[in-house]
Amino acid sequence: MTSESVKPASNLYMGVDVGGTTVNTAVIDESGRVITKEQIDTLAHQGSEAVLDRICASADALIKRVEAEGRLMAIGVALPGIVHMDRGVSLFLTNFPGNWPEVPVAAFFLQRTGLPTYIMNDARAATWGESRFGAGRGAHNMAMLTLGTGIGGGLVINDDLYFGTRGWAGEIGHITVELHGPRCACGNYGCVEALASGPAISAAAMKAIRQGFATKMRDMVSGDLNLVTPEIVASAAEAGDVVALEIMEQTGHYIGTAIAAVLLIFNPELVVIGGGVAKAGRLLFEPIRRVADIRSSLFIEPMGGAKIVPAELGEDAGAIGAAAWAMRKTRVAGPGPTP
Ligand SMILES: [Zn+2]
Repeated sequence: MTSESVKPASNLYMGVDVGGTTVNTAVIDESGRVITKEQIDTLAHQGSEAVLDRICASADALIKRVEAEGRLMAIGVALPGIVHMDRGVSLFLTNFPGNWPEVPVAAFFLQRTGLPTYIMNDARAATWGESRFGAGRGAHNMAMLTLGTGIGGGLVINDDLYFGTRGWAGEIGHITVELHGPRCACGNYGCVEALASGPAISAAAMKAIRQGFATKMRDMVSGDLNLVTPEIVASAAEAGDVVALEIMEQTGHYIGTAIAAVLLIFNPELVVIGGGVAKAGRLLFEPIRRVADIRSSLFIEPMGGAKIVPAELGEDAGAIGAAAWAMRKTRVAGPGPTP
């Protein structure tokens, strides 16, 4: 492959999105164009040191690959859980063995690559990526939800990510939408994540099949409940299966209720919805929009009439967003060591 004509002086930024099963890395230029990207397995069971070692080896290879394209300025790393951004350490990564308390991720990258490194929560990274270079381009105020195994979230207020007092702002997935609902992974009850995430959708379908409801989902998994996925539910609903349609409607109802809370507090122009579960498309977006509208209506009209739209960056959102965050930090702080 021949390299495209890029100005030799381009400033480049690397984003690393560390997920439970894969690590997506992308190098972008200042316009958000992806210069190169790579995916490796996380192999989280190996522990933080081995995982970071492998990611840095892969990052080194990418750094060499883009040498001719421009100057790599900084790295952003998105992590699936709670991090301390200023100290550059992870605090609690939910699905990783040992949960990575006090792992100095930023210092590890700085030492291995010589580049200033900024860490952040993965859903916040995806939010920033969509805000700068995806579905949120041009919107000053935006909220994002990522629908997957969990429900992540993020807020952009006045063109910047909003973190709140301790960096936790944007945990939209843990808004209570059913007072006496099921227990959530976070320890609370009735969070939208406990009711509308991928596993919750699968569980609702399994329950319906087990209860003997007439649904083609039973045949779609040949009677093996372990094979039920949100994709199965979505495609059954697309084919007009009433039980699957009810599950999508209910899921949209919960998500729309959480979004209504966001609309009432932040009055954003735009709500962007990404993650694998969002691929269900119209069947999910229609009830989400309807319920968000109704539940955020005060007196005479829906608050602000925010648009609710699908994300555009797909599985690259986290990596592109982390890179874009490194760009933002570099522009504010100037190149230098990790703060
Ligand atoms: Zn929760």
